Amino acid sequence: MPDDFDGKVVLVTGAGSGIGRAAASIFAARGGLVYAADINDQGLAETRDLIERAGGRAVTAHVDVAAEDEIAALMTRIGDEAGRLDAAFNNAGITGGTHRLEDYPSADFDHVLRINLRSVFLGMKYELPLMKRGGGGAICNTASVAALTGPGGMCAYAASKHGIHGLTRVAAMENAAHHVRVNALAPGWTETPMVVANSAQNPDFARLARSAIPAKRGGQPDEVAAAAVWLCSAAASYVFGQMLVVDGGMTIGGFELS
Ligand code: NAD
Repeated sequence: MPDDFDGKVVLVTGAGSGIGRAAASIFAARGGLVYAADINDQGLAETRDLIERAGGRAVTAHVDVAAEDEIAALMTRIGDEAGRLDAAFNNAGITGGTHRLEDYPSADFDHVLRINLRSVFLGMKYELPLMKRGGGGAICNTASVAALTGPGGMCAYAASKHGIHGLTRVAAMENAAHHVRVNALAPGWTETPMVVANSAQNPDFARLARSAIPAKRGGQPDEVAAAAVWLCSAAASYVFGQMLVVDGGMTIGGFELS
């Protein structure tokens, strides 16, 4: 692994599991000091152990990404302890229930938007000043292929992920001249522990879903996280306001010639 994040301070939210854990591990393996934030303390401890066993450095923070006071306090803490913030991966999120739109409980809709979308707004609101104080940085927000499609039953999730795409573009436009790059990651079907568990419970659906992916398999968390790390790295220095789709070809459209 290159050591291009050596001396850099990186925040990863949703770092207690899945794509966030994988990204935190890669950032740390490339030399970054990782602030790993989540509401899942056990998951966070496991992520920290994983990173430390591999020789990296991680600090855990119990933070609800939808709570403005907690996000503000986290950024104050990072500023006080580390003095800077070079990269942020705003990744925590939930799927919410699946119901047709007319049956979707309004309180559940608000909840999903709070956790998935308001959190990205809050994250960037408090990350940007800290990054700019340090001379610049890079942000990656986790959207989804649901930012490009209309998955039936998931109106709140799709609305939140479409919203992340919009927020990312605005933040990229506002900060491009201020040495902060902002981009988004759109994962497809990624075999995080929750997805693997759901697939085991519903193997017919999982088989159907995998067969609809041109690559004929789900993504592994580390191959999806690698794209987020790339967007935050110097290798992506001229990439601004983009949403990078990492989905095994799921959203290509069209048909295979057989
Ligand atoms: P995951 O459930 O494994 O990890 C998500 C993490 O976010 C968990 O550790 C959870 O505790 C944390 N989290 C949830 N609510 C939080 C809150 N309020 N404050 C702080 N942390 C909170 O899921 P994952 O698949 O790794 O998902 C990561 C991101 O990727 C999410 O934004 C998700 O929508 C997106 N995504 C996942 C897939 C997929 O197939 N797995 C596909 C597209 C997009």
